[in-house]
Amino acid sequence: MLALVTFIFGAVIGSFLNVVIYRLPRGESVAFPASHCQSCHTPLKPWHNIPVLSWLFLRGKCAFCGEKISIQYPLIEILSGLLFMSIFLKNDLSLATFGIAAAFLTLLTLSMIDFYYKAVPDSLNLLALTLAVFSVNDVQMLGINFVNALLLAGGFTLLRFYLSYYLYARTKAFVKPTKKAAWVRNYNPMPLYFEAMGEGDIMVAATMGALMGVQLSLVAVFLSALIALPAILLTQGRDADSHRLPFVPFLALAAYIVYMLDAPVLAYLKGLYG
Ligand SMILES: [Zn+2]
Repeated sequence: MLALVTFIFGAVIGSFLNVVIYRLPRGESVAFPASHCQSCHTPLKPWHNIPVLSWLFLRGKCAFCGEKISIQYPLIEILSGLLFMSIFLKNDLSLATFGIAAAFLTLLTLSMIDFYYKAVPDSLNLLALTLAVFSVNDVQMLGINFVNALLLAGGFTLLRFYLSYYLYARTKAFVKPTKKAAWVRNYNPMPLYFEAMGEGDIMVAATMGALMGVQLSLVAVFLSALIALPAILLTQGRDADSHRLPFVPFLALAAYIVYMLDAPVLAYLKGLYG
């Protein structure tokens, strides 16, 4: 019963997240106007807003103009439902669990926006971090979450400096040291695509630190790099713009996997390091 209720609740939130993913990067209000077709702008009827089911009944088409509705809508709703349900089944029924589930849903939203725009809005990133830090059952945990968030943010900032410097230094070695090259370098000391990570990734790392502590977060960061490796290899050699792979989706996915498997992962680490 708890599974069904939390799944439906998560799917309903997912329906709202679809609106956020579409409107927030466009600078539109997420509350007004009410949901409407993006093609013919007709306001939707309440029964057109039922998560997943409406899309199925309408066979993925607008009821008014027949324009196709992206499969992303039901997929995000199903994902949100599953996410929400799994976190409630793992934890107790409390306000803190709700906050943690909401933090993961925010990470899902950030992942979708990063995927489309290769950038994430600070507002959502701050929301995820705030939810992750404050979703606690006692005050002591609040302090621990805060310190873990700082450790991950600091560690990621240092890693970013190292990687960016390495990428820049390596590329510079291929440039002939002519006057022109030096001039160009002076004017563009660090072009955007030498940035190994975006600032958004640092905030997501902080959120991960608050959600699961330093040990599990490090495992998740390592896992995210493993998952991202095939994607990095596939996008290599394309234009400069594609060098900036959206990394938030990989971080968020790895964070979720490690969070759900925290007990076996911690047991494994204990076996490795005693
Ligand atoms: Zn329409």
